[in-house]
Amino acid sequence: MADSLTKLIAGNWKMNGLRASLFEVEKLASKLTAGAAPRCTVAICPPATLIAAMNQIAAPAGIVVGAQDCHPAASGAHTGDLSAPMLADAGAQLVIVGHSERRADHGETDELVRQKAVSVLAAGLTPIICVGETRAEREAGTADAVVAAQLAASVPDEAADDDVVVAYEPVWAIGTGLTPTSADIAQMHKSLRDQLVKRFGAKGAAIKLLYGGSLKPGNAREILAIEHVNGGLIGGASLLADDLFAIISAA
Ligand code: PEP
Repeated sequence: MADSLTKLIAGNWKMNGLRASLFEVEKLASKLTAGAAPRCTVAICPPATLIAAMNQIAAPAGIVVGAQDCHPAASGAHTGDLSAPMLADAGAQLVIVGHSERRADHGETDELVRQKAVSVLAAGLTPIICVGETRAEREAGTADAVVAAQLAASVPDEAADDDVVVAYEPVWAIGTGLTPTSADIAQMHKSLRDQLVKRFGAKGAAIKLLYGGSLKPGNAREILAIEHVNGGLIGGASLLADDLFAIISAA
């Protein structure tokens, strides 16, 4: 039986976008407000430099603006970093933590990701906590164990009381055009759901599970229809309003 959670379609612009790119958000906003209201929650996580300006355009259209990372501390001597309260102050409502690019580029561990998620919740925001196996781990047959360990260590106990979102993003599917089979996505999401329910009971059944990795207009309908896929985290295809709107329509 399909679960009844409202789907979340979240774009991750990564290190892309200047103020001129906000034109795409204007375009998406006018598409979203022209017809019937979408039956999913729509969010975009731009570079932090664009959060405030994007919010001006996005909020009136019901688009949520998020951030892509934060420091685990609320303030302090951490040159160049941004804290969750700062992102909230700029207008973010969501913060992606533990994206595989940050785990790879910055050596982020599950423990650091968990601390970041706690700081996001303390700031009154919702973390999107990313997990996912590498190609080598999938080929070695350890994907389930790797992702289960990431989930256990990256999702904080605070998720028992506060809202968190989990994104399953196989590293080998990100930005490659490759996707797992629907059966593999279904199996991983069912496993994630079972682990969350075991740990958090009824609250675990209400945690949204996003799929991410080369989600695009051509495969969105099939992937978003899979049981326990409660939305998508979308990189490349979120940069263009037409593509993101097509995925929202599929949801
Ligand atoms: C991502 O970066 O989270 C992602 C899923 O990227 P892409 O959609 O480009 O694979």
